[in-house]
Amino acid sequence: MIHILQTSPLLFTVMSAILGLMVGSFLNVVIHRLPKMLEIGWQQQCAELRGEEYVPVTPYNLIVPRSACPHCNHAISAWENIPVVSYLLLRGKCKNCGAAISPRYPVIEAISGILCAYAAWHFGFGMTAAGALLLVWALLALTAIDFDTQLLPDDITLPLLWAGLLLNLFGVFTDLYSAVLGAVTGYLVLWSVYWLFKLITGKEGMGYGDFKLLAALGAWMGWQMLPLIILLSSLVGAVVGITLIVALKHGRNIPIPFGPYLAGGGFIALFWGQTLTQGYLQLLVAP
Ligand SMILES: [Zn+2]
Repeated sequence: MIHILQTSPLLFTVMSAILGLMVGSFLNVVIHRLPKMLEIGWQQQCAELRGEEYVPVTPYNLIVPRSACPHCNHAISAWENIPVVSYLLLRGKCKNCGAAISPRYPVIEAISGILCAYAAWHFGFGMTAAGALLLVWALLALTAIDFDTQLLPDDITLPLLWAGLLLNLFGVFTDLYSAVLGAVTGYLVLWSVYWLFKLITGKEGMGYGDFKLLAALGAWMGWQMLPLIILLSSLVGAVVGITLIVALKHGRNIPIPFGPYLAGGGFIALFWGQTLTQGYLQLLVAP
């Protein structure tokens, strides 16, 4: 099997796309439930601090309860849960009550499938592709959760950081030296920007989750990629931010999450980082 995948890039790409679609379906569960699970945990801690007895709610995690229609509670069967296909077959409506299903579910599944296929094609069969898939999934989940809740949960950012260091112990994306420096520098850069911004304006421009995410990206791709990631995410962030303020009269003080832009910068750096940095270094060196 391994031999077939090694010798047939097309088969490896197709298999990765299918895996990406299936994991994308699970990512939808993570995106929807992880923030609620965090909230339940915080309420539990607050109750304990107040010395109150915490009334246990029904179990709520990534596995229990089963997925159900939020309108009629109709349990979603296996065939209604096939990534993208079920949404199209059901024409975006609950089979039982006809309530609209958010198009975001198939969109996340499709993006996961496409990015996984691209990662497989780009890196070829091996540890690098496997790592790239993991990074794609983590960044997708973080992007959507930050977009919804302005949170980048430690439950994703910290394991992501360690996974990057672990992979680079074997030099999968960069050498260990660059990875460790990347993690530390990534954190400190945004931490410094945060405190400078806070001292000057008295406002908080971003959160600690952003520092941890850039630290994780530094651990995965090495310190050399950090300038590119910051540049790309600031560019995209500025364009989207200004568009929102101008076009939608989005208030200037309403927080726009920075995590999705960092994740976007991370995606670009993962696939084209080497080419881009070589390109701009050549520009600097050339007379
Ligand atoms: Zn329903």
